[in-house]
Amino acid sequence: LNPIYAGLPTTIFEVMSGLARTHEAVNLGQGFPDDPGPEDVRRKAAEAVVDGWNQYPPMMGLPELRHAATAHYRHWQGLELDPDAEVMVTSGATEALAGALFSLIEPGDEVVLFQPLYDAYLPLVQRAGGIPRLVRLEPPFWAMTPEKLDQVFSERTKLVLFNNPQNPTGVVYDRAQMQLLADYCVRFNAYAVCDEVWEHVVFDGLTFEPLMALPGMRERTVKISSAGKIFGMTGWKVGLVFAAPPLMKVLSKAHQFLTFTTPPNLQAAVAYGLVKPDDYFTTMRAGLQRSRDRLATGLKGLGFEVLPSRGTYFLSIDLAAQGNAREPNAFDDEAFCLDLVKTRKVAAIPVSAFYAEDAVKSVVRFCFAKHDATIDRALAHLADLA
Ligand code: PMP
Ligand code: GLN
Repeated sequence: LNPIYAGLPTTIFEVMSGLARTHEAVNLGQGFPDDPGPEDVRRKAAEAVVDGWNQYPPMMGLPELRHAATAHYRHWQGLELDPDAEVMVTSGATEALAGALFSLIEPGDEVVLFQPLYDAYLPLVQRAGGIPRLVRLEPPFWAMTPEKLDQVFSERTKLVLFNNPQNPTGVVYDRAQMQLLADYCVRFNAYAVCDEVWEHVVFDGLTFEPLMALPGMRERTVKISSAGKIFGMTGWKVGLVFAAPPLMKVLSKAHQFLTFTTPPNLQAAVAYGLVKPDDYFTTMRAGLQRSRDRLATGLKGLGFEVLPSRGTYFLSIDLAAQGNAREPNAFDDEAFCLDLVKTRKVAAIPVSAFYAEDAVKSVVRFCFAKHDATIDRALAHLADLA
C-alpha cells in the first residue's frame, strides 16, 4: 500500500455530508448549491446525449468548447489564449490539479503551498514526489507577507500552488497581494499552478484578475477553472486548463493517461453556457451575495464573529474572536462541528481540516449557496448557541 494514501483519513466533505444525512441535519458543510443549475445548460447536456454525442471526444476537448472558453476568458479576464495550443478540457479541476503536479514536479522539487489548503493538494504534491513548503495564513485577513514568503521560497522552489478566490476562507486576493506572489515566482523562476475555480463567484463588485495576467507570469502559469463552479453544478466534472504551449504539451501527456477525455455532452453544454450573456453571471453573483449577507447577518445577530468573505460559497466564524478571552489554541473546531451536527442538526466544516500542521482551530466554515429557507432553518437551529 502506498503510505501517502493508506494513511489518509476520509475527506472532511464526505464525512460531514455523511453525518448530515445520519443526523438529518441542515447541510452547510460540503460546498454545493441548493439550486439545480441553469435549466438551458442542463437541457443542452440532455439533448446532446439524445442526439448521440456519446463517443470519445478529442483528447484536448471538443473544439466548440475550446473556442468558447477562449472567447469567455478574453471577455471576462482579458486573456488572449490560442484555442488550439493553450486550452485543454479535463474531468474536473481535480484532474487538472493532479495532472499539473504529476507532470511539472520531479521527486525532490519544493512546492510552495498556503494553509488553509484545499484538501486534495497535499497528497497530490506528495505523491508526485514534491517537498511541501507550507505558508501558514491566519484570520481575519489570511494575508501573504514578504516575511512569510521569504521562509519558503528558494532556488529549490519548483512551483507554487495558489488558490484564488480561496476555499475555505472566501478571500479574494487583491492586486498588491498577487503582485507580491508574482514577484517571488519570477525571482525564483517558479511555475504557478493557479486554482481559480471560484473566479466567477466574487462579490461586492470585485473584478477577478487571473495571476496569469500579471507581468512575467504568462509563460510560467497554469490556470485551472471548473465548469462545476462556473455554473453551480458541482457534480459536473468539467475542468478547463490554460497554459503556454511548452507547458501545455507536458500537461496533455498527463491528461492522456489520467482520463484522456471528459463526457462530450457535458462539454457541449459548457461550450453553450460559457458564451451566455453577462447577465447570467452577474445575476448568479448577486443571488449568492444576497445569500452570503443573509447568513452573515443571521450569524452576527446570534452573536458569532463572522469573518469577511468576498468570494466562493463560503463564510467562516471565528470562535476565538467572540469577545471571550480564551487562547485561540484552546478551541477545537472539529469537536465544535461534531457537536453541532449531532445536537443542533447543522453541518459545517472545521477549517483545521485544511491545515497539515500547526492548525488554526477556532474557525468554522459554512456554505451559504442555499435557498433562503435552508439558511433560515440553520439559523433557527443555532439560536442561543454563541
Ligand atoms: N479546487 C478548489 C479550491 C475547490 O473548491 C474545488 C471544489 N470545490 C475543486 C478544486 C474541485 O473542482 P472540480 O469539482 O471541478 O474537480
Ligand atoms: N470543494 C467542495 C467544498 O469545499 C467539496 C469538494 C469535495 O467534496 N471533494 O466543500
